[in-house]
Amino acid sequence: MNSMLLKGGRVIDPASGVDGAYDVLVRDGEVEAVEAAGSLAPFEGAAVVDVRGCWVVPGLIDAHVHLRDPGFPEKETIASGLRAAAAGGFTAVAAMANTSPVNDGPETTRYMLERAKSAHCARLIPVSAVTRGLRGVELVDFASMIEQGARLFSDDGIPIDDPVILSRAFDEAKRLGYAISLHEEDRALSCDGALNAGEASKLLGVSGYTDSAESERVRRDLAIAIGSGAAVHIAHASTAESFALIRAARRHGAHVTCEVTPHHFVLDESAALIWGPNAKMNPPLRSHGNVEAVLDAIQDGTADMIASDHAPHDHKSKRMDDLAPFFGPGHAVACLARDLAESFARAANGVVGLETSLGLTLGLVHRSLIDASRLVQMMSLNPAGLLRLDAGTLATGAIADITVIDPNLEWTVMPERFLSKSRNTPFAGMRLKGRAVLTIVGGEIVFDARKE
Ligand SMILES: [Zn+2]
Repeated sequence: MNSMLLKGGRVIDPASGVDGAYDVLVRDGEVEAVEAAGSLAPFEGAAVVDVRGCWVVPGLIDAHVHLRDPGFPEKETIASGLRAAAAGGFTAVAAMANTSPVNDGPETTRYMLERAKSAHCARLIPVSAVTRGLRGVELVDFASMIEQGARLFSDDGIPIDDPVILSRAFDEAKRLGYAISLHEEDRALSCDGALNAGEASKLLGVSGYTDSAESERVRRDLAIAIGSGAAVHIAHASTAESFALIRAARRHGAHVTCEVTPHHFVLDESAALIWGPNAKMNPPLRSHGNVEAVLDAIQDGTADMIASDHAPHDHKSKRMDDLAPFFGPGHAVACLARDLAESFARAANGVVGLETSLGLTLGLVHRSLIDASRLVQMMSLNPAGLLRLDAGTLATGAIADITVIDPNLEWTVMPERFLSKSRNTPFAGMRLKGRAVLTIVGGEIVFDARKE
């Protein structure tokens, strides 16, 4: 069943310049027609879905997720991660390479794609490692990874320290026409910091991670990128200085794109005082001024896309056995005892994000910081471009990857109801307005909120 008529929604397709009340007819998994609302009739065998009051947009795409499979099934599997993606409105997600084994060879890529195929859910777009084993020493075979299905290269989780390796990677990526996504961190400056270097880290008595650990590496890498002419993508940019460097590099002709995460534009470092390790990630939540800088970057176009950096972790990896009693809403945290501060420092970095990313980004539309079309650009069209996907539009003939969003549906984030296997979120209990109600991949419904 991959044919349907979506009747009377607000179709928002910036690639085609469409924003208005339209019917969308899907036949055999492809968009057959998009016409003024009320003008299309279903053919035999096409389901009719009334989507009045909803947005109908090209399927959302997240260019940065961690699905932990192979290697860490207690945190996430490809099946659970793709179900979480579909529930969040995503029709495709780019799965990072820091699995075990690392996705640095064709066998792992094949395994990932086979698992994704049998999940019959959102699509998995493999991200290949840049260097073997993420060790930063030897490049992977870029051409063979592309042949297997990789659409982006990244050692995410770990920066590429050696500038010679990085410039060789840029040359290879440029030759083959793909982008490299960079985790920007100078580890001599971040020094394993548990939180942003600021008030919260001081209060808790844990080590701090400065803005410069990110921006100094962005500065170096953009200088190398300008020389090479390669397409470079800055993952999870989080500081005012990083955005200033990206703007300057663009003026110098760099092919640079960048993503920002919902947690970096919704929360500042003080969230760690409430949520503890569930507000610990890399790069860390920053100062209030940097949150404003992320919002400016979204509004002025410096940030090309929203990515969740979905990073599931179990209770144990987050050291919640030790730390849970000291955190939570209503807790006023004082300096942690030394052994607890050590636990905090050792807690795994990352937050789950697939099921909250759209709701948090819709908050920007409700606050009139961006319009709906810009949201679709940042969550579908631009990530499709980064990943070299034939997606991100509802033009006639396009593959019918479609997200139907009820922008006004109010809901509460309840981690225990996530389809992800992990619960590590600093958004528990938050009221959000708007969510995906139908996620359609190749004309088939893979998530239907009405049935949940
Ligand atoms: Zn990263």
